[in-house]
Amino acid sequence: MVGDPIIELVDVSRSYQLGPTTVRALAGCTLSISRGEFVAVMGPSGSGKSTFLHILGLLDRPNGGSYRLEGEDVGGLSDNRLAYLRNRRMGFVFQQFHLLPINTALENAELPLIYAGRSSCRSEALARIREVGLAGRAGHLPNELSGGERQRVAIARSLVNDPAIIFADEPTGNLDSVSGEEIISLLESLNRRGKTVIMVTHEERLAGRAGRVIRMRDGEVVSDRRREGKPAAPGAVWPEPPPAESCPVSHSGRAVLKDHLRESLRAVFSHRLRSFLSMLGILIGVGAVIAMLALGAGAKEAIERDLARLGSNLLMVRPGSRTVRGVRMETGSVTRFTLQDAEAMGKLPDIRRVSPSVSGRGQLVRGNRNWNTRLQGVGVDYPDMRSAEPVEGRFFTGDELRRRDRVAVLGATVVRELFGEAGPVGAEIRINRQNFRVVGVLPEKGSHTWRDLDDEVLIPITTAMYRVMGKDYVDSIDVEVAAAGRMEAAEEELRQLIIQRHRLGPDREDSFQIRNMAEIQETIQSTTRTMSMLLGSIAAISLLVGGIGIMNIMLVSVTERTREIGIRKAVGASRKDILVQFLIEAVVMTLSGGLAGVLLGAGISWLLSSLAGWTVRVTPFSVILAGAFSVLVGLVFGLWPARQAARLSPIEALRYE
Ligand code: ADP
Repeated sequence: MVGDPIIELVDVSRSYQLGPTTVRALAGCTLSISRGEFVAVMGPSGSGKSTFLHILGLLDRPNGGSYRLEGEDVGGLSDNRLAYLRNRRMGFVFQQFHLLPINTALENAELPLIYAGRSSCRSEALARIREVGLAGRAGHLPNELSGGERQRVAIARSLVNDPAIIFADEPTGNLDSVSGEEIISLLESLNRRGKTVIMVTHEERLAGRAGRVIRMRDGEVVSDRRREGKPAAPGAVWPEPPPAESCPVSHSGRAVLKDHLRESLRAVFSHRLRSFLSMLGILIGVGAVIAMLALGAGAKEAIERDLARLGSNLLMVRPGSRTVRGVRMETGSVTRFTLQDAEAMGKLPDIRRVSPSVSGRGQLVRGNRNWNTRLQGVGVDYPDMRSAEPVEGRFFTGDELRRRDRVAVLGATVVRELFGEAGPVGAEIRINRQNFRVVGVLPEKGSHTWRDLDDEVLIPITTAMYRVMGKDYVDSIDVEVAAAGRMEAAEEELRQLIIQRHRLGPDREDSFQIRNMAEIQETIQSTTRTMSMLLGSIAAISLLVGGIGIMNIMLVSVTERTREIGIRKAVGASRKDILVQFLIEAVVMTLSGGLAGVLLGAGISWLLSSLAGWTVRVTPFSVILAGAFSVLVGLVFGLWPARQAARLSPIEALRYE
């Protein structure tokens, strides 16, 4: 049964540097172990048994000497190659079982299959679980199993990739004598089937079951005895497992990714509260981004709609603002326009009609109802120029304007607030303590993002100036140009007229402004854009904070799960496997946080539009942006913790308390 050398050590040593002192855990060890041997390693505590086993098991690297495993010198091998050898050529059984607590017995047994790319042969893991007598407990978590059962799961796990060597580190150390006996029998039976078994123990009774006993003291092998003709131990002889080739290695990236995804999801779901808390940052960030962008897009849309309704060949004449040493001056040097200016403008050849306007606030009273609104004095051409022909009643007439009559045309919101459902035309209301007669109701314009366009009252400009506001100048003059092609000419005519009427010198030509709708549109759009960008960047900062939160949680989780990482590495996970798993975990958290954030953002937008009546528009672009951003946050902030996890040495990680 015993064959060619499977392990050859020449002068292998391992020492640890503890501050100034060097601890020699293994001091020059030379020996060879043949295929099919059952070796027990004995010695007092601290004699270097575990160090010896860890070096043989490729969990730790020696400081000196050479180690050949199945003829291959492992001294210069990369971490990845070592992981491969641990995965395919060896199995481990530890005193502390080292099962993953959130995986069932079967899932624990499957773990080496995943790292071998053989996860399609789950039947193999189930077969091994059956072999160790746990068929009925495959779906149980480790903490639902007895110590002996846990150790049997560990043995099943060590066997799934049909390894050549089984390493057992005090496999019965945490078990009662009956369970211990079962485990030893299992190991014996494996040995009879041809596996090389190397077991560390401090019990003579167990060592007696092995065919060879190596004794150590102070890091050195002090005796090495083979027991010739050791009688075959009683116990079950297992049937030979089906050849491993029956279950091919899958190199498809998709299958591997699927396995990693499953492991990551399990980790995310087993720490629900922690995962949720770390998602919260991303959730709020993305929700804010979506809502802010929706608000910006809605504002833009609303403004464009309003501007389109205004007509394109409108010019607006307003007093200008002067800048003196960087400070805007609104009064003094600005040109104030009068009704006579407006009248003169109306007579220019390229101008069809004009409507001067003043605006202020109006306190409206009807019976016991009060309403504060925007009060505008306008000219009689206003409804034609602004497509605001009353839907009920009529607009005020030129006569009423000349007589400064107290007549008012109400916006829809004002009607609702003062009259409810009853028809307002003909009714008397008080505006700033004066009696007005309602003559008409304006068509509904819909609401703007931040301001309700129907919340206004129009009265004749003369009444507004002389009776209500006490002004003898107008705030602005809307001018409609006769033909779209004459806009520039009309603008020039207006400019000359104003300069001439107000006797403006060349230094005061900026004391008034003539703006056309295209310009206004552009200004408003760029303002909206700036606003959306501002809101968006505030939201992006919260995303950043969310990302740092994820990183924080992931770093904590790397420390907390050091042991888990050690177990995964011991059964053959490479650096890349660990890196990918942690990255996937981070991305799963940020992406699901992001998706929930999209829903939250859409919900907030819906609330804003239905409660506040604002125009909001959730665009596909913002959803894609938020989704991509949350994946990016996961990758960027998950990378560091994932690298920390991937870099851990298997034995350091396993030893971590
Ligand atoms: P055994 O398994 O026989 O009890 P070990 O192999 O665990 O012995 O340890 C052998 C010696 O090496 C002990 O003196 C121990 O303190 C030391 N040692 C083991 N691991 C480390 C480590 N990671 N850092 C420092 N010293 C260590």
